[in-house]
Amino acid sequence: MKQNLNIYNSLTGKKEEFTPLNDGFVGLYVCGPTVYSNVHLGNCRTFISFDVVYRYLKYIGYKVRYVRNITDVGHLVDDADEGEDKIAKKARLEQLEPMEIVQAYTIDFHNVLQKFNNIPPNIEPTATGHIIEQIEMVKAIIEKGFGYESNGSVYFDVEKYNESHPYGELSGRKIEDLLSNTRDLDGQSEKRAPLDFALWKNASDEHLMKWPSPWGIGFPGWHLECSAMSTKYLGKQFDIHGGGMDLKFPHHECEIAQGTSANGTSPVKYWMHGNMLTLNGKKMSKSTGNSILPEELFSGDNDFMEKAFDPMVVRFFMMQAHYRSNLDFTSDALLAAEKGFNKLMEALSTLEKLKATKDSSTDVTALVNEFHNAMNDDFNAPTLVANLFEAVKFINSVNDNTATISKDDLALLTKEMNGFIVDVLGISLQISSSDDKLAPVMDLVLDLRQEARTNKDWTTSDKIRDGLAAAGIVVKDSKEGTSWK
Ligand code: AMP
Ligand code: ZN
Repeated sequence: MKQNLNIYNSLTGKKEEFTPLNDGFVGLYVCGPTVYSNVHLGNCRTFISFDVVYRYLKYIGYKVRYVRNITDVGHLVDDADEGEDKIAKKARLEQLEPMEIVQAYTIDFHNVLQKFNNIPPNIEPTATGHIIEQIEMVKAIIEKGFGYESNGSVYFDVEKYNESHPYGELSGRKIEDLLSNTRDLDGQSEKRAPLDFALWKNASDEHLMKWPSPWGIGFPGWHLECSAMSTKYLGKQFDIHGGGMDLKFPHHECEIAQGTSANGTSPVKYWMHGNMLTLNGKKMSKSTGNSILPEELFSGDNDFMEKAFDPMVVRFFMMQAHYRSNLDFTSDALLAAEKGFNKLMEALSTLEKLKATKDSSTDVTALVNEFHNAMNDDFNAPTLVANLFEAVKFINSVNDNTATISKDDLALLTKEMNGFIVDVLGISLQISSSDDKLAPVMDLVLDLRQEARTNKDWTTSDKIRDGLAAAGIVVKDSKEGTSWK
């Protein structure tokens, strides 16, 4: 690959030049949702961030295998080893089968991401569909001496692992600190030590989701599914693993420990973590009630915003911050994003109409190179957006005849503007294409209005203007002629 792509690797804390394990190919794994409730906008931010990563890798020519799982068992309410399974709990509360819960929220997840124009992953495995692989992995971990059985459950021996591998290397935690922060076992626990985590849990009779295993009837631990499924579809070691920052510890730390002990190699070359979407300055989260659903935003039916927003505007809003930075969700920020979005869409239509001359008054290649430079710098979408607006300025100048563009440069700019906006940022152009269809109709209507005005037929011309206004189309008369929006 010709591109020098740099990725911030959470494991080393540095930006590193990206070199895939196999030339030309990228294995990408992203932790998917636990399907026990509707995805909120915060979840969507993470999935949109990695959609842009996937899109850019493809844009620069990689063949990418993108795997994103569906967690449909094993994720307990405390995000650790205690309490009810999140899905089973919801099933109990709603008096439904766990698989009805899984089905309903998986469909919701897919629908929402489709509205955001996310490309589906190449493989979307479920935890319940990979029980055998998970059992095999537990066996391997026990065989290597890093797992032990206790009362029908199997735990990972963190301190044993730490003798040969640094547990905590991803999250920057030290085992001594972790140990001093965990409460002493009261003798009731099946675990040998408080830091140990479940690979397999014994299931009581009333438990709804359970399977037979060499250790009795039970279910897999949450961290295990990602290790088993990434190994199955991407190999013992693969290129990129992503997820939200909140998954670094314990989830991803445990994935490293499981993969390393079962497969003898650290599973991931580049770890990427997206930062949180906040609302009122706090992490958007379903459990605290501090969340907003995408549908509430698209319909305008919510307490936060005064109007509805198109999914593409919301997607564009997400591009205003780098994926590793916080992004605060406010009405003002969304309105500002909408303005920018409209300006960008207008520039794309203007670009189609530009006439080339002999020379360009600006170095268009340099302008376009900056698009690549932004994305090559750890997928810096906000810098890309700023660079796109530099191009918008130039497009508008050419349109105003205060700048010129050559034929070749016009072709290059058209290709890369569309490429980066549509293919990389994933902005679908339905809005502008509906404008395109409307354009000839509007030409006709405005001609008729002009005729009426020439004939001093004010009743007809007002009728046309008011009718258009009612349809949301604003007509503006100026020295240059009549325009509409
Ligand atoms: P979950 O379904 O809870 O496992 O979360 C699915 C994904 O959404 C994970 O990658 C989380 O890190 C991510 N996530 C959860 N809350 C937020 C948030 N407020 N902002 C961004 N990502 C989030
Ligand atoms: Zn995971």
